[in-house]
Amino acid sequence: MPTASPKERLRVVIRGAVQGVGFRPFVYRLAKEMALPGWVSNSPQGVFLEVEGEEETLHAFLLRLEQERPPRASIQSLEYSFLPLHGFTEFEIRKSDGAGERTALVLPDIATCPECLREVFDPANRRYLYPFTNCTNCGPRFSILQALPYDRPNTTMARFPMCEACRHEYQNPEDRRFHAQPNACPTCGPRLELWDGHGTTLSSNHAALRAAALAIRRGEIVAVKGLGGFHLVVDARDDYAVRRLRTRKEREEKPLALMAPSLAWIEGRCEISPLEERLLLSPESPIVLLRRRPEAESDGVAPSVAPGNPDLGVMLPYTPLHHILLRELGIPVVATSGNLSDEPICTDERDALERLSDIADCFLVHDRPIARHVDDSVARVLLGRELVLRRARGYAPLPVHVLRPLPQLLAVGAHLKNAIAVSSGSQVFVSQHIGDLETVHAFAAFHRVVDDFHRLYELTPVKVAADAHPDYLSTRDAQRRGLPLVSVQHHYAHVLSCMAENGLDGPVLGVSWDGTGYGSDQTIWGGEFLRVTDAGWTRTAHLRTFRLPGGEQAIKEPRRAAIGLLYELFGDETFARDELAPVASFAVRERTILQQALVRRLNSPLTSSAGRLFDAVAALIGLRLTTRFEGQAAMELEWAIQGVHTDEAYPFRLEPGDGPLIVDWAPLVQEVLSDLGTGMANSLMAARFHNALAEMVVAVARHAGEAQVALSGGCFQNRYLTERTVRRLTAEGFSPYWHQRIPPNDGGIALGQILAAARSKE
Ligand code: ZN
Ligand code: ZN
Ligand code: FE
Repeated sequence: MPTASPKERLRVVIRGAVQGVGFRPFVYRLAKEMALPGWVSNSPQGVFLEVEGEEETLHAFLLRLEQERPPRASIQSLEYSFLPLHGFTEFEIRKSDGAGERTALVLPDIATCPECLREVFDPANRRYLYPFTNCTNCGPRFSILQALPYDRPNTTMARFPMCEACRHEYQNPEDRRFHAQPNACPTCGPRLELWDGHGTTLSSNHAALRAAALAIRRGEIVAVKGLGGFHLVVDARDDYAVRRLRTRKEREEKPLALMAPSLAWIEGRCEISPLEERLLLSPESPIVLLRRRPEAESDGVAPSVAPGNPDLGVMLPYTPLHHILLRELGIPVVATSGNLSDEPICTDERDALERLSDIADCFLVHDRPIARHVDDSVARVLLGRELVLRRARGYAPLPVHVLRPLPQLLAVGAHLKNAIAVSSGSQVFVSQHIGDLETVHAFAAFHRVVDDFHRLYELTPVKVAADAHPDYLSTRDAQRRGLPLVSVQHHYAHVLSCMAENGLDGPVLGVSWDGTGYGSDQTIWGGEFLRVTDAGWTRTAHLRTFRLPGGEQAIKEPRRAAIGLLYELFGDETFARDELAPVASFAVRERTILQQALVRRLNSPLTSSAGRLFDAVAALIGLRLTTRFEGQAAMELEWAIQGVHTDEAYPFRLEPGDGPLIVDWAPLVQEVLSDLGTGMANSLMAARFHNALAEMVVAVARHAGEAQVALSGGCFQNRYLTERTVRRLTAEGFSPYWHQRIPPNDGGIALGQILAAARSKE
């Protein structure tokens, strides 16, 4: 593959105290010095800038932008994306866009700034060890906002009248806390309390925090009320404590996130690139998925935190409360959302007592109400760019800027990993992560967020967009809104979402791969290649279909997907192949039932899903027969590749037909079976499988002849698959695009639905 680094365009949107502090001249000088053409401008929405150059130079520019910024400039949010080259020739300061957008900008919550942190740990400061310290540059925003404009009476801080000292800071234009709406101190602000499981106060203020730290050290589970909700916290080194948390939370195997005591601690256990370090320390401070150091055999993290996982999800403390707690502890903790299994995160301490009483041993709470739930965001750096996998704290509800102005629209998202979106002008506001709409609590949270966004942005949408799946709760809700309804095919929404955030116009070949989506032929789609133009979309190609015996049950049991796959090739003979793990895992009587279901096509829907193909192959090679969480088999198949470097790929066939091109995996399955016969290592089979998927994309791209290829859908959370596919497409002369600010999974569907509704004539 070529090593020449093509030029790219970097777009950066910066919000914070960056206006009137010489930020634009600074950007101009930096861009000139680094010989990067582009532009910078100011608007009420923040500082926007674009520069063009080689990837390495752009990374350096990005890091210097923060490190060398003017002393009085404070960055509260920095979002960047890489876009197709525009062809700038010089750098210019563009005129301020005075008109701007009329929609008010709601800022996300901002991680504690260095100045506040210094004060919190300065014994001489009046805010020494005060967990609610904040200033104009940092602190809660979205999570305390009750109405616009953003003024103290409109926040949950309204109940705390400022003391004289705080009021003085608030009114003094020279002070860092001038008009800092959540300004507070130990005299006038929120307080901590430690409660037992019945809500009885055990201690207050710093004593409460120290007692909570002691409980964590003893191996107890402490529910901590944080910024956008509760965390459940345990000692991350204590395997017994972590397993106890898993059992009580009914979260058996899904990886848990850590909060680390310091950057140095993380560096000792994980490989960190400069962009990853930036992300860990950023105002957004998300959970960052980092590669564990292979040599750190025993890194002190309990095995049950992320079993078998080559990555760790790690964040640094992002509020003074977390900073003080972690300083007191000096150890890493598991900090997972305070909920039962897949329910939304708890935000209210009385609610927490009820819902978390069977999980937590004690509760560290405070009296600043949380206006709305905001989970921790999850991101990773992939191919030298950020990829946001769960968009919540630090990011939501910042808008995505689209190419053309849109009418006011509402999009209700999909079913899993639900988030909603609304549009106004050329901005799309994507909500914080809501979750899987599987429980009453989750559906209630969905309704709250929809109402919330209507209220905040004073919306009167002219249309509502929903998934084409008639039974999704989100779709049913959209049907009841009395608005024109635009029904959007799931995989089309994925592709539009990817196009929108990359600023792409059609035509595009969209590769939309995920677990499940309602197809327009009533089968389950998920291995789709869609040609998207400004006029609409057509299904160019898809993976060969197979049946899923047991329907829904097959999603939890990859062995069923494997049986369906084998049945497609071998028919009834499948059930005699005892040497295959998925077949052997069923008793003879169960096999008869499966066979009957397949023969009679009862509860055995057809699917073209790439996610289910992952499942089937994972089961076939004996890696994972049944799963405990969505996507587990595919994740483990990716992890299995660890340490293997090969370009070998399993074969496949393209079958032209009357309709879409069929990507036939039959030769792939045949080869897997013969490799199994030779006792080949799982790692090599996993690599060959992933490589084959990348080659499928390249082959269909050649066939379709579109230069622009957009990769979307949950399968592209897979690092190996995404990197391999992008590299191969680039090597073959295509321009691949993938997600950056918006998740490739169903969390990005609402953005795509907005774009679809805007295009629709309905
Ligand atoms: Zn601050
Ligand atoms: Zn005060
Ligand atoms: Fe999807």
